Amino acid sequence: MTEKIRVRFAPSPTGFLHIGGARTALFNWLYAKHNKGSFILRIEDTDKSRSTEEFIEAIADDMKWLGLDWDEGPFRQTDRFDVYRSYINRLIEEDKAYYCYCAPEELESKRKEAMAQRRPLKYDGRCRNIEGRETLHHAKQTGRQEQTGGQARDERQGKKAVVRFKMPQKGQTVVDDLIRGKVVFENEQLDDLIIMRSDGAPTYNFVVVVDDVDMKITHVIRGDDHLNNTPKQIQLYDALGYPVPKFVHLPMILGSDKARLSKRHGATSVTAYHKMGYLPDALVNYLVRLGWSYGDQEVFSKEELINYFSLKNVGKAAAVFNPEKLLWLNSQYIINTSSEKLVELVMPFLVKEKIVGKEQSVNKEWLSKAIVTLKERSKTLIELANSLRYYIAEEVEYNEKAKIKHLIKENKKLLVELKDHLADMVDFSAPEIEKVFKSIIKDYNIKFGTNLRLGDLAQPVRVAMTGGTESPGIFEVLEVVGREKTLKRLEKAIQTIETL
Ligand code: GLU
Repeated sequence: MTEKIRVRFAPSPTGFLHIGGARTALFNWLYAKHNKGSFILRIEDTDKSRSTEEFIEAIADDMKWLGLDWDEGPFRQTDRFDVYRSYINRLIEEDKAYYCYCAPEELESKRKEAMAQRRPLKYDGRCRNIEGRETLHHAKQTGRQEQTGGQARDERQGKKAVVRFKMPQKGQTVVDDLIRGKVVFENEQLDDLIIMRSDGAPTYNFVVVVDDVDMKITHVIRGDDHLNNTPKQIQLYDALGYPVPKFVHLPMILGSDKARLSKRHGATSVTAYHKMGYLPDALVNYLVRLGWSYGDQEVFSKEELINYFSLKNVGKAAAVFNPEKLLWLNSQYIINTSSEKLVELVMPFLVKEKIVGKEQSVNKEWLSKAIVTLKERSKTLIELANSLRYYIAEEVEYNEKAKIKHLIKENKKLLVELKDHLADMVDFSAPEIEKVFKSIIKDYNIKFGTNLRLGDLAQPVRVAMTGGTESPGIFEVLEVVGREKTLKRLEKAIQTIETL
């Protein structure tokens, strides 16, 4: 029987879910789904000073919004300090880790010295041999670990201590990455890693290994900013006596200037794109193409992604984030989403943009008809909401330029004529309305010897109906707005001209 795939997404809740993090989550999710495995959410909140409950909630919300549901979790590392502590004790007992009492100030000055001499900073191993078993023995005798709430403190010296892992000093560590192949690290370059800080908090490289072991993770799929951590983690697996999982380091996501994607490049959080009116499936579709490809296909349904996804098609090269392409994809998703579904999606934006009151009820069937006319013209849900404004509002506000240009004396007669005709209509549908427009222009030209075109009537009507000069086909607009409101708006335009 082949082993069951188990992958995880392990965000640190020190900020909102970043585009890069979301892509990592997505690749893990797809890999699990494709292989009928499990996707686990683990919150890496050991850095208590920077982690917040709000970010934990926001990350979970963003993942749900993207449809990246998890099978297990969310687990929180701060709930697991006892587990980590027992593993640390084991390493100390086996002489694979040791207490280090070097004062932080001393280490800091050594760090500066190394920097000035341009040599890599490495802990000099001062506490590596002088302590070891003796310390453990001492700790055991006094039962100090329990008494101090997990803090490492050497009573003889009265100093706080950290726990360091004894990194092998010779040989090589090979990271066998499923995308990059073998990446070789010289052990000489690896430091005696701090696995527990003096306040008792275990550190990232250690807890990640303990958790991946405990959670039976088979594939660690993460950004390649972690590649340099992987040899350290491999050594920890070895020390603990566990087999290493498969590693997959995803290429970075860069901005248009080829620098690592950051706030400088504009919106980089999932929350921001949610707020800007992007569809979750559009964002998912965009994210998957940052590093993964399937022939020339650009637009994928979730089912297709699950069927087609494989790590073989993940490239090695960094991906460039292109907001214009994301916007284009979003517009495609809006076009291809049913109007009924768009009603649900746009509703929160109508409320947020104060186009619809919180308590106000809007006829969904009618709204869906309005959306049909706007789908092709809206790149985001915010744009869609704002275009719906003139359908929903009781009265339209004129754009000043449009008003000056089109609500002029010469157009009054035409508008009055149109209003009279529309008032008599029985079937207030776009095709019938079109006929009325055409006949008015024709009659007008015969009667006054003018040479007006349809647009000469359509533009002032557009201003009367929408306040501006851009809208979907005017006949459709009238049909959606309905006869009663249309007549009111034409009347207001006529009165506006009269006050000129
Ligand atoms: N907590 C780490 C981060 O947010 C993830 C580490 C990992 O995936 O191993 O970058």
